[in-house]
Amino acid sequence: MTPVTSSAMATIIDGRAIAQDLEERIRKEIKRLSQQPRLAILSFNTPTSQVYLNAQLRVARRVGIEVHTESKTERRPVGTFGVGPLPWNVEFQEIQQTIEDWNQDPAVHGIFVHQPLPPQIDAQQLSALIDPRKDIEGIHPQHSARRFFARARIGSCTALAVMELIESTGVDLRGKEAVVVGHSEIVGRPVSMLLLDALATTTVCHLGTAEAGRLEEHVRRADVLVVAVGEPQIIKGAWIKAKAIVIDVGINVVGGHVVGDVEFDAAKERAAFISPVPGGVGPVTVMMVMKNTVEAFRLQHAAS
Ligand code: NAP
Repeated sequence: MTPVTSSAMATIIDGRAIAQDLEERIRKEIKRLSQQPRLAILSFNTPTSQVYLNAQLRVARRVGIEVHTESKTERRPVGTFGVGPLPWNVEFQEIQQTIEDWNQDPAVHGIFVHQPLPPQIDAQQLSALIDPRKDIEGIHPQHSARRFFARARIGSCTALAVMELIESTGVDLRGKEAVVVGHSEIVGRPVSMLLLDALATTTVCHLGTAEAGRLEEHVRRADVLVVAVGEPQIIKGAWIKAKAIVIDVGINVVGGHVVGDVEFDAAKERAAFISPVPGGVGPVTVMMVMKNTVEAFRLQHAAS
């Protein structure tokens, strides 16, 4: 199966085809495990969190990963294994208790917390709570440190998805100018580290770059551009370097439609490869959640 489909100009990177390919491989790997991996997901009662949860549940079922969303014990009304959506005003102690239960529970192999978090929840405090062997988003400080030394076994699902999309183009990153727009802990920073590991000359842009009026000049020299801001059309098509690879991570709802951060129609006239939104990074990210759950299962079973 080919993971790309051609348009008039750029080749559109088909995230759904790449995800399907990965799904086959993950399903086969799971069949070879001694037991079914189990994933615990902490979601919130917001529309985006619920859409994401449903996508995760659908894919988990298909590959053979068990995700519980019902109560497992009497003590906690929404379960210790997978929780029903938590209210947006949930207190930190509630989340802490749930994660500690999952850390202790040998039947849980992977833990995934939906982002963005409510403002009263401190992301750093939460990351440090999760048992690193079960942390399938790679947010625990131990994973960040390993990532720094290019030794991570588990990392940000979105960052890994971005790299998978780039790899599907067959272009060697070594020596290429890579520009990442956005420097969040779960997308921009881990992607930039992975690009560095691939020996791309990597520039990271952020709000300060935009405020200094210098976003365009950095984007214009990108052989590989990864955009993760969350602002529709922040990257203009005219800025794209001819024959660039453009990976659009952004998810925005405009007039009832999901769009990315890049001016897609104009950008595809200039790029060599471009990922669409929807149907680009998103489906591959969901698959990476499953892949990392399998990896976490292996880590725990190798240690026991
Ligand atoms: P985030 O935590 O809000 O980070 C956004 C980043 O953009 C920040 O680093 C911010 O810099 C930077 N930024 C803000 N305004 C900017 C500007 N005008 N110019 C340049 N940079 C600017 O968001 P995130 O979690 O990284 O997610 C980014 C987008 O990707 C969102 O749309 C999200 O929904 C989407 N997403 C998609 C997937 C997927 O699987 N497809 C997964 C995760 C996220 P400062 O911190 O300096 O303000």
